[in-house]
Amino acid sequence: MLPTKPDWSGGLAEAWTPGERGAQQQLKAFCDEALADYARQRDLPAIDGTSRLSPHLAFGEITPADIWHAAANADSVPEKQLEKFHKELVWREFSYHLLVNFPNLGGENFNGDFDAFPWAGTDAQLQAWQRGLTGYPIVDAGMRQLWQTGWMHNRVRMVVASFLIKHLMTDWRKGEDWFWDTLVDADPASNTASWQWVAGSGADAAPYFRVFNPILQGEKFDPDGDYVRTYVPELAGLPNKYVHKPWEAPEKVLEKSNVSLGSTYPAPIVDHQQARNRALDAYQTMKGQAA
Ligand SMILES: Cc1cc2nc3c(=O)[nH]c(=O)nc-3n(C[C@H](O)[C@H](O)[C@H](O)COP(=O)(O)OP(=O)(O)OC[C@H]3O[C@@H](n4cnc5c(N)ncnc54)[C@H](O)[C@@H]3O)c2cc1C
Repeated sequence: MLPTKPDWSGGLAEAWTPGERGAQQQLKAFCDEALADYARQRDLPAIDGTSRLSPHLAFGEITPADIWHAAANADSVPEKQLEKFHKELVWREFSYHLLVNFPNLGGENFNGDFDAFPWAGTDAQLQAWQRGLTGYPIVDAGMRQLWQTGWMHNRVRMVVASFLIKHLMTDWRKGEDWFWDTLVDADPASNTASWQWVAGSGADAAPYFRVFNPILQGEKFDPDGDYVRTYVPELAGLPNKYVHKPWEAPEKVLEKSNVSLGSTYPAPIVDHQQARNRALDAYQTMKGQAA
């Protein structure tokens, strides 16, 4: 079943060791090396600060109970760090409880008010998002990490999902479908619950009006631009100051960095502020209809 023409699976093979043994090795490495500083490092996509156990969980190669107890028994892990990690495992359980009780969670808005949401995204925008060509470096880096390795860092998943739903006003189900097709950890419960969480339509969801700013998110969680430079190599030469907003770089800086907006790397497909306002207006329209 391995693909040949083209073989798009090389990046996946490099990133993962499938199977039960691979899962146990990964668990041990995480407990030894990253768990003790998990709460801080888990938000930094440029480093291996999370367990990367999700594909092994998705394929049933390890159980949440195994992970829970191995972490609890790991040496020299401060209580706060352990608690944070355990909480993430509980998010997964919560997603499963939701799916069991609401089997249509993948196809229907948990909050029916969102049935009236005036989605307006175009196919061309969806394609730009899928290919990592939106012109917003942190979004594009995430979408390319997904394509190359079959996985994306959680912080960046939230950013790209928010961008698709709010900046591009595209129905969350289209993003959910793409993740389902491309993630090695694609999971019917976590994927649907997380997309609805970002959309604001889910149970206990982030409010719709919370629109992630892709520039600030990049600057805060990838301050040196290492993550962007890894997955969007055409921006590698830009100074840190502009790596999350190349359109603000002076012409001379762009030239020196071999970046030509609209040619080597796209200009932003939407303006952040305008897109944000449009999304908030649409939300008000939906609320008006639901009232
Ligand atoms: C839009 C979107 C879609 C997502 N789709 C999936 C998916 O299809 N499959 C999937 O397993 N996770 C999904 N997640 C949740 C999360 O991003 C991944 O579980 C996490 O990035 C996996 O990496 P890790 O194993 O290194 O996580 P760690 O930080 O090491 O966490 C340990 C485990 O806890 C669970 N976990 C962590 N965060 C979450 C979360 N927010 N929700 C549910 N469980 C969580 C996972 O099983 C994970 O393996 C999604 C998140 C978003 C925002």
